[in-house]
Amino acid sequence: MLYLDGSRGEGGGQILRTSLALAMVTGKPFQIRQIRAGRPKPGLMRQHLTAVMAAAEICGAEIDGAELKSKKLEFTPGEVRPGEYRFDIGTAGSVTLVLQTVLPPLMLAGGPSKLNLCGGTHNIHAPPFDFLAKAFLPLLQRMGPRVEVTLVRPGFYPAGGGRMVVDIQPVQTLKPLELVDGGRVVRRHATAMVSHLPRHIAERELATLRRKLSISERETTIDETQAVGPGNVVVIEIQREHITEVFTGFGQRGVPAEKVAAGAAREANRYLDAGVPVGEHLADQLLLPLALAGGGCYRTTEPTAHTRTNADTIREFLDVRVEIEKVCDDVFEIRVGNADGWEA
Ligand code: ATP
Repeated sequence: MLYLDGSRGEGGGQILRTSLALAMVTGKPFQIRQIRAGRPKPGLMRQHLTAVMAAAEICGAEIDGAELKSKKLEFTPGEVRPGEYRFDIGTAGSVTLVLQTVLPPLMLAGGPSKLNLCGGTHNIHAPPFDFLAKAFLPLLQRMGPRVEVTLVRPGFYPAGGGRMVVDIQPVQTLKPLELVDGGRVVRRHATAMVSHLPRHIAERELATLRRKLSISERETTIDETQAVGPGNVVVIEIQREHITEVFTGFGQRGVPAEKVAAGAAREANRYLDAGVPVGEHLADQLLLPLALAGGGCYRTTEPTAHTRTNADTIREFLDVRVEIEKVCDDVFEIRVGNADGWEA
């Protein structure tokens, strides 16, 4: 049994999700205390509880402490069973974070899987659908598995009601991934999505993005969609020769459209100024597949607490080395390797 401390580093939900994913892949049981101690509302929220129950369902795990607000959980995994599953968060909690939990074991399982996920698809502090589809999954596919996602309907906080379908064709082993040079920027595009909100919100966001990113009208799109409730996001896509990155601004009540867009533009410009292939969110999410592949490396901006904490959690389960080295200014290289060397 591994004993984990959920208050470590970032102290958020990712420690739990990474632990669930790696417990299923390795078969190692764990106990975690102080779940999400670093958050204003600690313990298991609905979204985290759905991730725990989803993990338990796909591997027939024995669980203790899986209740709302619980700060302690024991998880003893069984064998992973690929197949067709439906996981409904029941609130606007993020479906992409539930996927983050079950995808690692299912992409290495003995057969294909199909997931129907219901809840929020565009949530603040979580990977939005577009990031998953355009940035994260294309990189994962280069490592072997085929993972296709379809957005049936977007879901925003607080109404939720979004739906995403995921098709997974697994592999036995993952190939290492190297992303040191992203190549030239070949396309920039910004989309402003609004649901049950005035079109001028999207127009003002895109006007801000045209100024801050020096892009033209042709490089922007308004998407008027019909979710269950109101919602707004701006999605900036930066396509380089060897990688696509996605930066998102989430509309919130009381925050002007210009401010939402400016925040996303700041993230995108920081990424462009650094000239690295991997942005800050991709950086923490690539660690787990690279560790499972036993190798790889990438260049990114200064690692966040999420990245450092995820590296610590991964080391609890796998015998891997994760080395973070500053190259210059805002350029860092992250290398993942077997405990006895850098080669996979
Ligand atoms: P909390 O405990 O705060 O509820 P959580 O369960 O939401 O936490 P975190 O530990 O904060 O989880 O992890 C959030 C994950 O979402 C991280 O992997 C982070 O990189 C990712 N993420 C957050 N914002 C974005 C974004 N704009 N684009 C892509 N990924 C994002």
